[in-house]
Amino acid sequence: MKQFLNYINGEFVATDTTFENCAPADNHVIGLVHEAGAAEVDAAVRAARAALKGDWGRMSVARRVELLHAVADEIIRRSDEFLEAEIADTGKPRSLASHIDIPRGAANFKVFADIIKNVPTETFEMATPDGGQALNYAIRSPLGVIGVVCPWNLPLLLMTWKVGPALACGNTVVVKPSEETPATATLLGEVMSKVGIPPGVYNVVHGFGPNSAGEFLTQHPGVNGITFTGETRTGEAIMAAAAKGVRPVSFELGGKNAGIVFADCDFDKAVAGITRSAFENCGQVCLGTERVYVQRPIFDKFVAALKAKAEGLKIGPSNEAGVNLGPLISAEHKQKVLSYFDKARAEGATVVAGGGVPAMPGELGHGHWVQPTIWTGLPETASVVREEVFGPCCHIAPFDTEEEVIALANATDYGLATTVWTENLGCAHRVAKQVEVGICWINSWFLRDLRTAFGGAKGSGIGREGGVHSLEFYTELRNVCIKL
Ligand code: NAD
Repeated sequence: MKQFLNYINGEFVATDTTFENCAPADNHVIGLVHEAGAAEVDAAVRAARAALKGDWGRMSVARRVELLHAVADEIIRRSDEFLEAEIADTGKPRSLASHIDIPRGAANFKVFADIIKNVPTETFEMATPDGGQALNYAIRSPLGVIGVVCPWNLPLLLMTWKVGPALACGNTVVVKPSEETPATATLLGEVMSKVGIPPGVYNVVHGFGPNSAGEFLTQHPGVNGITFTGETRTGEAIMAAAAKGVRPVSFELGGKNAGIVFADCDFDKAVAGITRSAFENCGQVCLGTERVYVQRPIFDKFVAALKAKAEGLKIGPSNEAGVNLGPLISAEHKQKVLSYFDKARAEGATVVAGGGVPAMPGELGHGHWVQPTIWTGLPETASVVREEVFGPCCHIAPFDTEEEVIALANATDYGLATTVWTENLGCAHRVAKQVEVGICWINSWFLRDLRTAFGGAKGSGIGREGGVHSLEFYTELRNVCIKL
């Protein structure tokens, strides 16, 4: 049976405690994951510390950039293996993983390597009280050993989104992939060895959160900073761990994102856009739209059109042609999503589409499938309007005015993303300026330029990463002041 080992100091490390990694599509056991205990996590952090003082720490930026390009090239060269691993772990459609997860996973190394190569440092000349002059200039140093704690929804992409800039800035990392998706982080260890990244620069420790590798890593005093993507509640626990030693955190957390559709939108594009933002990756995207607000004149027409789209989505296994929707990640998550389906009904929703479990043939019957689901008719206080479900579902409510919909969109503890559909540029700009989120898309969704700032407002995160913003977290800026 396949074994998913830890990767510590350039070696694959087995442990005595293993757990099963199961495929969401049919629940078959893909392999055994070797859980890292406190000792393995400690070894990984020590190896990462030592690497900072070794070849990696002494390496020129030019060589580091070259190596990170080689990592990206090697991921692309082995993209079939990465693709198979990601598909087995997540059950997502091959078309999605091959267009987004794997190529973006590779791009994250190149983009940040190029940024670090080209970023200028600031200088300021100043007059001194004695009539002379002084020159200030800034130097960036790596933050040190970075703990990277990852979710399961876009495993390689979201992990490299952190590891790419962290390594580009000269740090070393200890990665804790999600227990649900250990494969691609492990495979990346092979890539690191192959291209010559020194031992200890990239480490992987497998396991769970509490009382396991996640907690051991985030509580380890040898970790200088923690970057985390996952649930807001987990973020609270990690922030408490990081308080010891006042270590910096960068958090990308949950969302309850609004989609705002104005009556003057390009109707077909808006319907297609919301179909994607509500249902892509089976709704397991932090940026996904679970609250849709549609201006009253087109409300009924929009609900009917989205219903038709949802019912037209093809549910099935990754490799089947034309499949749009895979399974949810786990039995536990399916239970959570279905409990929200029940709550929506109990709270008085009109179920416009879905609301249950599709009949799947053969072994797929053991998988974690749910139907794409649309509700209307709920008050803003309803559970599925307030809480992040993280499934293929949305509630659609009507609105009348721009002012009203901005208030509705902002009436949440979260603040990750909004998507706005209108042909009126003035209106788009006014809404974008007032929604309390980190990312606002106009007539689009999930269109990402890796140089732009990414992150959440309110309960959706702390800090921004992307482009030069990543450098703010992954480096310490030192000002040097020379009296001339
Ligand atoms: P999760 O918080 O359950 O787990 C994320 C990671 O944290 C896992 O590796 C887990 O093992 C680890 N973990 C759990 N408890 C921990 C603890 N006490 N200490 C240390 N580590 C711990 O999240 P998930 O279910 O894997 O992912 C889904 C969530 O992630 C959703 O809320 C989604 O919105 C969010 N997300 C946000 C973004 C973003 O960019 N804002 C992107 C993707 C996912």
